[in-house]
Amino acid sequence: MKVALLTGASRGIGRETARALAAKEFHLFLVAEGTAEELAAAAAECRAAGAPDAAQAIFDLGVPGAAEAMVAAALARFGRVDVLVNNAGIRCRKPFGTFTRADFAQVLEVNLAAAFFASQAALPAMRAQGGGRIIHVASQMGRVAAEDNAVYGATKAALIQLTKSMAFELAKEGIQVNSVSPGPIATDYNIVSYGRIPGRTEQMTARVPLGRFGTPAEVAEAIVFLATAEGSFIQGHDLVVDGGYTIQ
Ligand code: NAD
Repeated sequence: MKVALLTGASRGIGRETARALAAKEFHLFLVAEGTAEELAAAAAECRAAGAPDAAQAIFDLGVPGAAEAMVAAALARFGRVDVLVNNAGIRCRKPFGTFTRADFAQVLEVNLAAAFFASQAALPAMRAQGGGRIIHVASQMGRVAAEDNAVYGATKAALIQLTKSMAFELAKEGIQVNSVSPGPIATDYNIVSYGRIPGRTEQMTARVPLGRFGTPAEVAEAIVFLATAEGSFIQGHDLVVDGGYTIQ
């Protein structure tokens, strides 16, 4: 039995990744915030896609301690965690001069601290199993600058560095740690939010050398690659899935 714990599984990239891991016959423990309905639908999709089992739990990873509780719940349910995908993330777009301490703390907690402490909490089980895979979902905004993105970008850059630190330290225990950095992806949220500002979608698309937004499935493929046998000699890498956005 192989078990994957995936955060941010109710929508977008996470939901597509859940389906892709299900097709690889992972038992899934799906986590998100908000209401249980969306997550229950994601779990049902996973079972239909081939997951032997799919459990779901609501945790607000903006609350200190929630990441550790989430890992404990996954272990209580399945007894092991082979793959941990730290995908949940929030954006907070503001001019640099206007961020508050509360904004800063919230984005840091969800995007960085939750991934850090979920990974730490999964360690004893991964050690006992003789290894595991941890994948952080960072962003192209952790590599390049963009307007109004100072806090988000800082958390994503930190995730890319955390990937290297953890990969270096945990390699000897058979734990592989990598990250995936998506570029602009056509999630439902992005389609709606970009669509609200006339010309914004076209402006963003023009900055992507491949000339389009990526799909959640294209990011999910990269995550699954790093989570499965195919990615067996990749350690501390940030796999950029951005249509070329960051090569400019
Ligand atoms: P989304 O906004 O569509 O969904 C976010 C998911 O995270 C949801 O399941 C939500 O419930 C969960 N989440 C948010 N806050 C949470 C909290 N406090 N506790 C628990 N769960 C919480 O996300 P997406 O666009 O699919 O992005 C997924 C990841 O990819 C994020 O880390 C994001 O930063 C990163 N990313 C996305 C894009 C993009 O274009 N969509 C680009 C680069 C990076």
